[in-house]
Amino acid sequence: MTRLGVPRERTPGERRVALVPESVARLVKLGVAVVVERGAGESAYFADADYERAGATLGDAAAAWAADVVVKVRRPMADEDALAREGAVLVALLQPHQSPEALAALAARGVTLLALERVPRTTRAQYMDILSSQATVVGYKAVLLAAGALPKFLPMLTTAAGTIRPARTLVMGAGVAGLQAIATAKRLGAVVSAFDVRPAVKEQVESLGAKFVAADLATAEAEAAGGYAREQSREAQERTMEALRRHVREMDVVITTAQVPGKAAPRLISAQMVREMRPGSVIVDVAAESGGNCELTKPGETINVNGVRILGPLDLASSVPADASQMFSRNVANLVEHMLKDGQVRVDAADEIVGPMIVK
Ligand code: NAD
Repeated sequence: MTRLGVPRERTPGERRVALVPESVARLVKLGVAVVVERGAGESAYFADADYERAGATLGDAAAAWAADVVVKVRRPMADEDALAREGAVLVALLQPHQSPEALAALAARGVTLLALERVPRTTRAQYMDILSSQATVVGYKAVLLAAGALPKFLPMLTTAAGTIRPARTLVMGAGVAGLQAIATAKRLGAVVSAFDVRPAVKEQVESLGAKFVAADLATAEAEAAGGYAREQSREAQERTMEALRRHVREMDVVITTAQVPGKAAPRLISAQMVREMRPGSVIVDVAAESGGNCELTKPGETINVNGVRILGPLDLASSVPADASQMFSRNVANLVEHMLKDGQVRVDAADEIVGPMIVK
């Protein structure tokens, strides 16, 4: 019988948990023995008692790390490495590119490392795609942050005190996070427009009731393999900024989510464009972690430039910990189920989903 451990997250600010009671019950039914560290779900509002009811055993960190397979949200902190045991499999957002040295110690201890960031973006694997599920949370929360900072309503209101015009919102980068931002802003009644370099996105944007702007700048060449965007040349980026400039200055809210895998976030809003915006407008730069889509963004901070607030939030998914964990957990349980062969979790390097996840 495979033993699966769920340690409590120790990274400061991380509130999610990798497995919630609902998924524990599902894995227990499949014959997996689950050990959960006491308090692992607390910051996401999942109680120890619910884990026990779902069939888990509670224990300390060492008990959770003694399992055959350890599932986590974040890669372990340095002081946890010593708990990892030889021959175990660790499944988490391991950031293999950003911090390979942090993983070297674990690999040296004989731990097999599976990076959740590397789940391939294929139709078959989408039930395990944590980047997508967490990007959905990010897009949603970005709009709520904007609404909270805006000195206006998002929807149009017709009241005895007269009519209030709806807020104009622009979403730049319409991947998973951007599309959820569009949907959320629409639900809240904003007038929404969006831009992406990939023309394939136009139809998705329009099906959500938003207007696709600067369509002539979106070209098929901008799309790389797997549906991702290619990095634009400096000249192309400047053309994009110039075309969007008129549009940005009309906006009450701008949400930016543009990313190119493995690269610094593309620059879409210059300092000059910010100066042309009206005081009271809000920019939420979801790409803050990878350098920001706005030239002035400070990761993790909110700055005020002539009355325009620029938010550079980090860890947005963790700020909706209950549902973000729920989605994370379903993705993880789908992956574990996929890896189960005759009641044992097997890391098959030839498997089209698991193979690319192995960190060498
Ligand atoms: P992402 O987070 O890598 O990037 C966000 C968006 O920014 C993308 O839409 C990208 O085109 C856009 N962008 C990049 N540079 C830009 C620029 N200079 N200006 C404007 N926009 C720019 O993207 P994502 O949400 O991970 O999705 C990327 C693609 O992968 C999409 O086609 C999506 O449908 C696909 N996808 C497929 C699966 C699956 O099949 N399982 C799962 C998730 C995503």
